Amino acid sequence: MANPGKLIIFSAPSGAGKTTLVRHLLEIPALNLAFSVSATSRPMRSYEVDGKDYFFITAEEFSKKIKNHEFLEWEEVYSDQYYGTLKSEVDGLLKAGKNVIFDIDVEGGMNLKKIYGNEALAIFVKPPSIKHLEERLNTRSSEDEESLITRLEKAVSELEYAPQFDKVLLNDKLDKAKQDAEVFVSDFLGINLD
Ligand code: 5GP
Repeated sequence: MANPGKLIIFSAPSGAGKTTLVRHLLEIPALNLAFSVSATSRPMRSYEVDGKDYFFITAEEFSKKIKNHEFLEWEEVYSDQYYGTLKSEVDGLLKAGKNVIFDIDVEGGMNLKKIYGNEALAIFVKPPSIKHLEERLNTRSSEDEESLITRLEKAVSELEYAPQFDKVLLNDKLDKAKQDAEVFVSDFLGINLD
């Protein structure tokens, strides 16, 4: 097992396909990755599992954790919807000898990179175009019209942050994007996947 205890941060605008890439990497045992489950106050979607996709908590519980300094970073990603990375989650996974992988928004990703520096690889997943993003969010059909517009507006401003990341991964053809993700992550971790 090479260099356990590193952080892999996947950030992107909502709908850019980072979750698919993170899931793909988690299926490769040699990378020794574990997913950092975030806390959120947004409602759970029908296909999600509490404790696996997120820890779904109330806004009150979220505020309490902010006051108790339980987060490495947290954000009100959308109005009244809070998301945060729990210190206990990351510390626990690192102690267990895992590399930790994050699916997190752009600002959160930059904040984690600031904390962990060279111990972290920050990857920005870039959609081929805003049009693609809109199509992906539409087919996901988890958003109502208002949420879709909010997500798209946020996406446009987030695209400007791409150059501040260690790597930019264009998610046009999924197979190619998966392959690129494997190369970026295995190189960083010093793991040979052949
Ligand atoms: P969704 O509601 O689609 O699950 O996530 C909305 C956005 O919040 C996504 O960009 C997701 O990556 C981001 N996100 C998830 N967990 C966290 C977190 O712990 N901190 C921050 N800053 N963003 C997060």
